[in-house]
Amino acid sequence: MNHTLPVLRYQFHELEPVISQRTLEFHYGKHHQTYVNNLNQLIVGTRFEHADLLTIIKEADGSIFNNGAQVWNHTFYFEAFSPTPQSKPTGKLLTLIEQQYNTFEQFIDQFNQKAITLFGSGWAWLVQTQRGELDIVQTSNAGNPIRDGLHPLLTCDVWEHAYYLDYQNRRAEYVQKFWNIVDWKIVENRLL
Ligand code: MN
Repeated sequence: MNHTLPVLRYQFHELEPVISQRTLEFHYGKHHQTYVNNLNQLIVGTRFEHADLLTIIKEADGSIFNNGAQVWNHTFYFEAFSPTPQSKPTGKLLTLIEQQYNTFEQFIDQFNQKAITLFGSGWAWLVQTQRGELDIVQTSNAGNPIRDGLHPLLTCDVWEHAYYLDYQNRRAEYVQKFWNIVDWKIVENRLL
């Protein structure tokens, strides 16, 4: 299977000032593209040569897992953004958030804490458990919660390459501004 870079629904400059055009040129154009290229090369002659990305995430190890999961994680991350986002969750998702975290604001605080305190490179995730409840989890490096039987709804990339050009060492500021471009309509559509 030939894995490809997803087409973004926005132009590189349209997420400014949260994420700059220059960051997207590198993050999507170079980092994400390199994971795609690496994966396509690594799978040749292996049992994953014709596997879809979900199978690779669930079953592969080592470099094939790392590159495959990074392709999936970045596609999932970039897909949740919009220059004109629905700024708050509604309906079933809002109900779930209020059941689990009391208020939307408290949910944001807890997610930010998970994203800010993750040591080193990785991802913070809003997920749904198999029972349908919400949870916030961290994964290191290329880790993906699907591997643990969880259903991802939203992710924040906290590898330095995601924010360093715009925020340098200020990860907390990047995480706080991240919410300005998250489109909750897209997140709602990901519910189980
Ligand atoms: Mn990244």
